[in-house]
Amino acid sequence: MTGTIINGKELAQELRQNMKGEVLQLKERGVTPHLSVILIGDNPASKSYVNGKKKASDEVGISSEVIELPAETTEEKLLHLIDDLNKNHAVHGILVQLPMPEHIREQQVIEAIDPSKDVDGFHPINIGRMMTGKDTLLPCTPFGIITMLKSKNIDIAGKHAVVIGRSNIVGKPVGQLLLNENATVTYCHSKTADLKEHTKKADILIVAVGKAHAVNEDFIKDGAVVIDVGINRVDGSLTGDVDFDSAKKKAAYITPVPRGVGPMTIAMLLKNTIKAAEGLSDN
Ligand code: NDP
Repeated sequence: MTGTIINGKELAQELRQNMKGEVLQLKERGVTPHLSVILIGDNPASKSYVNGKKKASDEVGISSEVIELPAETTEEKLLHLIDDLNKNHAVHGILVQLPMPEHIREQQVIEAIDPSKDVDGFHPINIGRMMTGKDTLLPCTPFGIITMLKSKNIDIAGKHAVVIGRSNIVGKPVGQLLLNENATVTYCHSKTADLKEHTKKADILIVAVGKAHAVNEDFIKDGAVVIDVGINRVDGSLTGDVDFDSAKKKAAYITPVPRGVGPMTIAMLLKNTIKAAEGLSDN
């Protein structure tokens, strides 16, 4: 079997095209969706992600600003800024680019964002709403993964989904969204005793480990759907957590890196910003 590639770059492009129309409709109603992105410090990877978010916002007509703060910014100052943005009716989405400097408590910051403007979908209220199956602002990467599966009409209900990784931003929420779609979900992590024993039973395998080429064909059942979330920089180029050429031999569907989950994450951020501007997040 040679896996069909799920091209996240193309799908994200298609979605952005549709979003242009949604933004126009909002503008006709006098609402210009606005996204405020806060970038603290000068981490080059963070800068490049933020630039990508701004460029994509511009393309669909979402107004956006990047507020750059020095690395030594205090938590208090950041919380004040978030408070101002929460109160500003012209701002619909607020995102603080992760990771934050170590002296700032990440959870404190996430919880300071008004849940109805939390376009990253990380606020505990939005996570709780997601867990209880309510309509809400969903975490962008997991939302993008589900959208990719649906774009190929891949059955999720009744399938065995195995997620490697249990971070709050990827692993845990993607498992929850798969459960919401009626998959049977197994979570694996660094303490999992026999990783392969689990992954080889997966109909849908989500890999969010953060280690280049951690998964190859030996971990994969014939005909599985393999979603590679990893973004690793190896010798100056981007590579995933999955050894693509090896895994492709067994997978029915597979996502590449780059041009896979990454562009979908940004597309879902735009979708959340439009949803927040429509006032549909209902928090
Ligand atoms: P984290 O480092 O927060 O989590 C990694 C997870 O992998 C942890 O749960 C860890 O287990 C688990 N893990 C580590 N080593 C192993 C192992 N040998 N066997 C099994 N499990 C293991 O990473 P994130 O979830 O934030 O991100 C994962 C990857 O996805 C990264 O490469 C990141 O860059 C990328 N990413 C991509 C995005 C995109 O848009 N494409 C968006 C966000 C992230 P434990 O909990 O026990 O430590």
